[in-house]
Amino acid sequence: MLEVKNLKVNRGGTNILKAVSLSIKEGETHILMGPNGSGKSTLANALLGNPLYTVAGGKILLDKMPLVKLSPDKRAKLGLFLAFQYPVEVEGVSMRSFLRTVYIELKKSGENFNKNLVESLKLLNINENFMGRALNFGFSGGEKKKSEILQLALFSPKYAILDETDSGLDVASLRTVAEGISALKKTNPKLGILMITHNPRILKYLNADVVHIMFQGKIIKSGNAALVKEVEEKGYGDTKSKLIMMNSERIG
Ligand code: ADP
Ligand code: MG
Repeated sequence: MLEVKNLKVNRGGTNILKAVSLSIKEGETHILMGPNGSGKSTLANALLGNPLYTVAGGKILLDKMPLVKLSPDKRAKLGLFLAFQYPVEVEGVSMRSFLRTVYIELKKSGENFNKNLVESLKLLNINENFMGRALNFGFSGGEKKKSEILQLALFSPKYAILDETDSGLDVASLRTVAEGISALKKTNPKLGILMITHNPRILKYLNADVVHIMFQGKIIKSGNAALVKEVEEKGYGDTKSKLIMMNSERIG
């Protein structure tokens, strides 16, 4: 189980997350929605230990193991994975060598790397010649997102946080990415997912066990998949004064 308990997170001296709690059990898919700037990426980054974010209180537990004091690589080795909202371009490091290096680091052996890579490329409809290109360098938005899911497929973590991995994709790429995630879930039913998204259509591909709505650094509501529909119709927030229509949040 991945447990977040009363997590408070600061960035640049500002308190962004205010006592956020949620727990994801093995095999569960949770959807996290909320207006831009509500703190979704802050939660994702804090979970993996991005040093720009300071945990000012609360706990993160992965199968009871406290993570807050651990470096990102240790968290990854324990089975946590983050697909970035904005994947970084790294010139001079090929995709293949990046993937192979991380794979060996995580699995302590390069066994089956090539076989798994070929399977994952096929699953995500990625051309093998991408492996010779520099990591994310000059990739289109959609290619960057596919590259994140390729890592997810290869590294087989216990829990994956996907930060708007379905944003900015054309219809075909959205389908490939969403079907890719759903296929991974089938081959590894124990995989827990926290999917940050603005896109209700993702539910066509993924069964959501729990949906959370974040607003101004807090989870203001959690529920089942019906909550997505509610947000689509009524917008975010409980009261009219807090009402922010979904459509205005789709951009960016
Ligand atoms: P979301 O992913 O939900 O769109 P973020 O987690 O990216 O939201 O941002 C949450 C809040 O943190 C925003 O209000 C943003 O302006 C603020 N923020 C981001 N970077 C910094 C920073 N360096 N210093 C202070 N506040 C920041
Ligand atoms: Mg974000």
